[in-house]
Amino acid sequence: MAIKRSRKNRSILGMLAIMAASAILPAQPAAAKAAGEQIVCVDPGHQLRGNHETEPVSPHSTTMKAKVSSGTTGVKTKKPEYVLTLEASLLLKEKLKSFGYTVVMTRETHDVDISNVERAQRCNEAGADLAVRIHADGDSSSRTQGISLLYPAWSEAAQTIYAPSKAAAEMILADTAAATGAVSRGIVPRSDLTGFNWSTVPTVLVEMGFMTNPNEDLKLSDPEYMNRLTEGMALGITKALAVQVGEQEAEQRFSVDLAGQTTLHHYANGRMYRTRLALAPQTVQVTATRGNWGKIETWIGPMWVYVGGLQQKQ
Ligand SMILES: [Zn+2]
Repeated sequence: MAIKRSRKNRSILGMLAIMAASAILPAQPAAAKAAGEQIVCVDPGHQLRGNHETEPVSPHSTTMKAKVSSGTTGVKTKKPEYVLTLEASLLLKEKLKSFGYTVVMTRETHDVDISNVERAQRCNEAGADLAVRIHADGDSSSRTQGISLLYPAWSEAAQTIYAPSKAAAEMILADTAAATGAVSRGIVPRSDLTGFNWSTVPTVLVEMGFMTNPNEDLKLSDPEYMNRLTEGMALGITKALAVQVGEQEAEQRFSVDLAGQTTLHHYANGRMYRTRLALAPQTVQVTATRGNWGKIETWIGPMWVYVGGLQQKQ
């Protein structure tokens, strides 16, 4: 299942979420998006120094948790988790940008002090279509290994983000496991994560592997392995954020002026999937439409571009 992007649904759900949280959260309207724009918020887990002051685990809870825990450490590499998570997040950022996503990072340096509530709020305020939290795992057994994908457990408060988050977790897990050959530990619903409970946008957490497993720790610091791992994440995200299009293909002929870099999409099974190909500003001939999408002929065959809001010319 892909994440629906109906504007009407989004704004109603967003309003409900803001109303639900308004007892504590100041109402923060999401920033306006450009036509066809999709935003991914990437949160590299942890930071140089943990912050053991506490904050509420959810907007409606009196349970308090540390603002940012210290994270795990590589048993072989001695690398702190906060270094690994930023390395992976910066790779992921570049890959997502190559698919035409707008990428918002909660941090790009180590010496920050951003609590888990604040990380969630940054992604909410960015109007992210998906917030991806990047972490690595630790265990008392050095044998434990593999990738897991966490998503918000169902609750009244999480009902608007539950289904798309779970679907994204499934897709990202499948693609990261396939890209790396790592053990797949499955998708895991969590109700105890501050970063999830404060999120008003679909969100997942990638546990990339166990830094307490000597082999996996070394792999997670191998550039070639990390290239494949983050490529799997990016591919999974393109599936999770493929836009559902209900409309039938209708023959129509008009031309439109594309502004900026326009990502080419391919259509399959009722969804538009991003590719890494984009067109520079130019006039293109549309030969058919599906809703706000126009079909154009390209050097790799027919592809789709978002034409919502563009002036149609004969
Ligand atoms: Zn962590």
